[in-house]
Amino acid sequence: MGEKTIQCGNLIGGKWEQRGATGITRRNPANVRDVVATAPDSSAEDARRAIEAAAEAFQRWRRMIPPERGKIVLRAAQLLESRLEEVAQLLTREEGKIVSDSRGEVKRGIDIMEYAAGMGRRLGGQTFPTETPNVFCFTTRQPIGPVAAISPWNFPVAIPCWKIAPALVCGNTVVCKPSPLTPATATRVVEIFEEAGLPPGVLNLVHGGAQAGSELINHPLIRGISFTGSTKVGMAIHMAAARRLAKVQLEMGGKNPQIILRDADLKNAIDCLVPAAFGSTGQRCSATSRAIVERPVSKDVMALLLEKTKMIRVGPGDRPEVTMGPLVDETRLRDVKSFVDRARAEGAKVVIGGSEPEGLRDGYFYAPTVVANVRPEHEIAREEVFGPVLSVIEVDDLEEALGVANAVEYGLCASIFTRDIGRAFAFIDRIEAGMIHVNRPGLGGFSHMPFGGFKHSSFGAREVGDDTINFYTDIKSVYIQET
Ligand code: NAD
Repeated sequence: MGEKTIQCGNLIGGKWEQRGATGITRRNPANVRDVVATAPDSSAEDARRAIEAAAEAFQRWRRMIPPERGKIVLRAAQLLESRLEEVAQLLTREEGKIVSDSRGEVKRGIDIMEYAAGMGRRLGGQTFPTETPNVFCFTTRQPIGPVAAISPWNFPVAIPCWKIAPALVCGNTVVCKPSPLTPATATRVVEIFEEAGLPPGVLNLVHGGAQAGSELINHPLIRGISFTGSTKVGMAIHMAAARRLAKVQLEMGGKNPQIILRDADLKNAIDCLVPAAFGSTGQRCSATSRAIVERPVSKDVMALLLEKTKMIRVGPGDRPEVTMGPLVDETRLRDVKSFVDRARAEGAKVVIGGSEPEGLRDGYFYAPTVVANVRPEHEIAREEVFGPVLSVIEVDDLEEALGVANAVEYGLCASIFTRDIGRAFAFIDRIEAGMIHVNRPGLGGFSHMPFGGFKHSSFGAREVGDDTINFYTDIKSVYIQET
């Protein structure tokens, strides 16, 4: 045990409440005896009060000039930077990823907040030529109103930051509902925004699950819902929001391919593939989960892949020698195990991993796993596993590789390894994915580039970068007649 349990409360209208409530109990996934946090499992009524507080604060907040709103967000970024190590350690304790990944995640949150702060000086419209004499025409952007930010557990710092920061700079007020698996890190993020000088009610926090979430989705005062999580929940949110025409921005699952062609630098391809597949224990929407390899190099690829996978050290994420932490909870561990069992039953072959490592019984550990003999129609080749499991699929040429890569419902990230610029451009043109990498790890991207995908991976304006302004604002077209 040793470390203290953090008592998380809700922030509603500038007041922290229900600290000490134990509806949610979160344990360290690397050591289940360590109770990291407790938090309220908020009711629909709690969510309603938070929504009303956000609606009340909205009229004042929208009138603050945008550069001033940006300055508060910049201050929050600076505060987060000054606490980077503390927040990273907490993130590892609560979510399980290794500390270097946690530091990277917090840094990403800070970078995105800095970029969003500058939106306060970029929230411009456009001017247009007139169609009739003596009319001056322009567009101007306005906030949409109170918004809900519903986030998952796998990036519990960066994702709330990349929703809250642009929402606020664009002039909206926010109700956050983090995952019940990561209440402590979410609370730290909201505390930091509050400390940066937000007026009461501008940012609210309600812990809980579907009960609080459902109120946020259905309440008429919430004008926009920015959701990151599973495709199943995202689709349900989209349907509910459509009934009252609320705006939605949905970031959901992935089944991301890395194509390795026969002319690739194979060492680079594997050096990029292994961290993309097993980093954060494969629990990233952007994780590479399919290696699609041209047959002439498949033996060499497999040898290099196994050599590098063997070097991964599984264990608690706060130990310096460890390079892969646990899964987030028992349910995830059970799901991953059953995906691998079904892959075996369908005729695929587990060539490394496929079990819980010896001597690690205090948490939810699973070995990095490579599955060969996978065919595109196998479940393991189509469904999001969300764990450290990589499928290897062999193909004859780029044409077949593209067919396999695109034959899934998802379309988030994709990468290709080749020295042939023509084939790289054919891939960029034809791959059905929103974030594309050539000769580099097929993960997310930079803190100022749009983040999102095609098909069942995303819906609505992209997050991160300036595209997210299109979600957090509405446009007014203005015509002024000279008299
Ligand atoms: P999840 O869909 O179970 O939950 C996400 C959030 O929605 C949580 O806060 C949860 O409490 C809330 N929620 C659940 N049911 C709800 C309901 N009926 N109404 C309102 N809110 C509800 O997802 P998860 O397990 O937390 O996260 C893992 C998933 O997130 C994976 O599928 C992963 O691919 C996806 N993800 C996507 C991205 C992206 O940017 N595309 C990033 C990270 C994670």
